[in-house]
Amino acid sequence: EAPVLTIDGPGGAGKGTISRLVAERLGWQLLDSGALYRLTALAAGKHGVALEDEAGVAEVARRLDVVFVAEREATRILLEGEEATTVIRTEQVGDAASRVAALPAVRNALLDRQRDFRQPPGLVADGRDMGTVVFTDAPLKIFLTASADERARRRQRQLREAGVDASLSSLLKEIQARDARDMQRSVAPLKPADDAITLDTTCLTIPEVVDRLTELLTE
Ligand code: C5P
Repeated sequence: EAPVLTIDGPGGAGKGTISRLVAERLGWQLLDSGALYRLTALAAGKHGVALEDEAGVAEVARRLDVVFVAEREATRILLEGEEATTVIRTEQVGDAASRVAALPAVRNALLDRQRDFRQPPGLVADGRDMGTVVFTDAPLKIFLTASADERARRRQRQLREAGVDASLSSLLKEIQARDARDMQRSVAPLKPADDAITLDTTCLTIPEVVDRLTELLTE
């Protein structure tokens, strides 16, 4: 089977950017599993399914009609044929995603879809449970972290680039609330796999992290 590099960690640690750059450098596939939870939450809203309706949301997840279009800078995402690339990145959708992600039937419904991304020559899988649940046999597992303050600053910069102004203190509060929910849920809680290497990126630049990961892969 194709090799997998799993990159798990809390929100705002830089997993998305790092995963994309490492996948590009290696010519590997990329799985943004968080996008699947975000899209599930968005699709549930669209179809009038309540976020607490476990069976209903799981059905939405199973039927999710999503297309990932790889483009030069980012990946375009179409949900039921409609542009969803930027709407799914709002903190509102992130919060809804972490609510549906706490439902076991929803996580189950997305398992095969995630594993289908494992194609030659390899896969970089970005998420919360890539190393602990979805790809337990991955030869290299990374847990990417950064201090909550730094993650809030990164999120603020990202939002500013998208033309959105948000205060640091409100972002910090949102990040901490989502972390707490992701770590405390009963299924697939956010934590490093036993065989994961933890990398604190608080004081590292993006190219430094990308270099370190490619080094680890060739070791
Ligand atoms: O990584 P991202 O911020 O896009 O993820 C949104 C939410 O989806 C997370 O807060 C988490 O609750 C959930 N998620 C998950 N398992 C994954 C990826 C994301 O539970 N593998």
